[in-house]
Amino acid sequence: MHNHTVGRAGYPDRDGFVTLDACIMDENGNCGSVGAIQDIAHPISVARLVMDKTPHVMLVGDGARQFAIEQGIKPEKLLTAESKAAWKKWLKKAEYSPVMNIENKQARQGSKYNHDTIGMLALDAKGNIGGACTTSGMAFKMHGRVGDSPIIGAGLYVDNEVGGATSTGVGEEVIRNVGSFLVVELMRQGMSPEEACKEAVARIIKKKPEVAKQIQVGFLAINKKGEYGAYALQEGFSFAVCDNNKQDLIIPGKYFYKEVK
Ligand code: ASP
Repeated sequence: MHNHTVGRAGYPDRDGFVTLDACIMDENGNCGSVGAIQDIAHPISVARLVMDKTPHVMLVGDGARQFAIEQGIKPEKLLTAESKAAWKKWLKKAEYSPVMNIENKQARQGSKYNHDTIGMLALDAKGNIGGACTTSGMAFKMHGRVGDSPIIGAGLYVDNEVGGATSTGVGEEVIRNVGSFLVVELMRQGMSPEEACKEAVARIIKKKPEVAKQIQVGFLAINKKGEYGAYALQEGFSFAVCDNNKQDLIIPGKYFYKEVK
């Protein structure tokens, strides 16, 4: 369990609770989401159940957990000994400081505190688009903090007339700019997926230039033609593509700022 940014073994919040955010959206505008859910290893499955089985879009906290258990999902403790030890170590200083591009840094220097999201966009043979995203959010966040990932329009958005987009990085800046909705709307106006992602990242810089230099945010998008693209604030955001020809192709996303190593 070396991944500390999503699901089981995710780093906890500052009070020691692992809380997860996830959402899902289909080609008909159906969507479901869970925020700050605890003890459920696959929050995306609960988001799917919210979409399929309730009249609502979003369930949070205890209500989301209760719903998951009612639907037959077994609760389990997600805080591993390793994550607990990292939290205890963090408590000594208790400084909240997101570290960007943890996936690269983990490979380089062993596991550290941080944040990441799994965002997925899919185009089927009929040309329908769907998407999902899931995360344990920012390591050592305040208890009750919800990021962009479960918020339709922020962490994920799909409009089957146009395309889909998803995001990763510091969710507060994505929410402020309704990032994924913005990317889809920019594609509607004629931008390519990469151009739309770049413009959405540029808005983040424009709104908070000093913050933008210190954090990571990345967007990924696909359009109806199956063209895809990504753009990030910082170097180090990469994405994977699977189609008939390629499986697991890792593509480095373009970026505004070169990472200081
Ligand atoms: N977007 C996630 C959040 O803010 C974290 C990440 O993707 O790095 O919770």
